[in-house]
Amino acid sequence: MTASNTTKKRIIFCDFDGTITVNDNIVAIIRHFNPPGWEQIVEKIVSQQISIQEGVGHMFRLLPSSMQQEVVDYGISNARIREGFADLLAYCKEQDIEFYVTSGGIDFFVYPILAGFGIPEDHIYCNGSDFSGDAIEITWPHPCDEHCQNDCGMCKTTIMRRFPANEYERILIGDSVTDFEGAKLADLVFSRSILTDKCKELGLPHREFSDFHNVISGLEQSKS
Ligand code: MG
Ligand code: ZN
Repeated sequence: MTASNTTKKRIIFCDFDGTITVNDNIVAIIRHFNPPGWEQIVEKIVSQQISIQEGVGHMFRLLPSSMQQEVVDYGISNARIREGFADLLAYCKEQDIEFYVTSGGIDFFVYPILAGFGIPEDHIYCNGSDFSGDAIEITWPHPCDEHCQNDCGMCKTTIMRRFPANEYERILIGDSVTDFEGAKLADLVFSRSILTDKCKELGLPHREFSDFHNVISGLEQSKS
């Protein structure tokens, strides 16, 4: 433990789909409406043959804008919040840990699902949506900066870089492909699912979690 470490402010970048929520909402929506061809796109995203931005954009374009209401309603009603999330937010407030949601999800379900938790809107980053054309078009208000060539869509590393490593202890909580790049930048990773496999493969320090009470314990144990 270095002396400078003790002065760093803790900041959490928390994924949404499959992390705050139990399931991946994008996959759940697409699976529910089942437009032909979506499965191959998911496979290509997971195996990193195409970028997240390309894959997610393509999947939603398989759905007509006329389905807006059904898609939005399904996205919101289907989601279940992972155990302990409200307790983690309370813990962060008490410990003066900054908490950001960095989500590759879409605004039409991310904001409504998080509405009851008191997270300021400027601490929630996600993608946008446009239902004005024939097909659903995902918009990308938070693209990769010049340091990221990954076509993330919503670029977690771009946001993380705004909080320099010499001032912040950067903590990432996540589960999947959208977290791989951010995990490489983080001082501490809380992982589940394929993010755990990726951390093992890359030799990145990580703690596995299954609910947010595990994360609170891990934050307590790793206090500097
Ligand atoms: Mg996720
Ligand atoms: Zn990026």
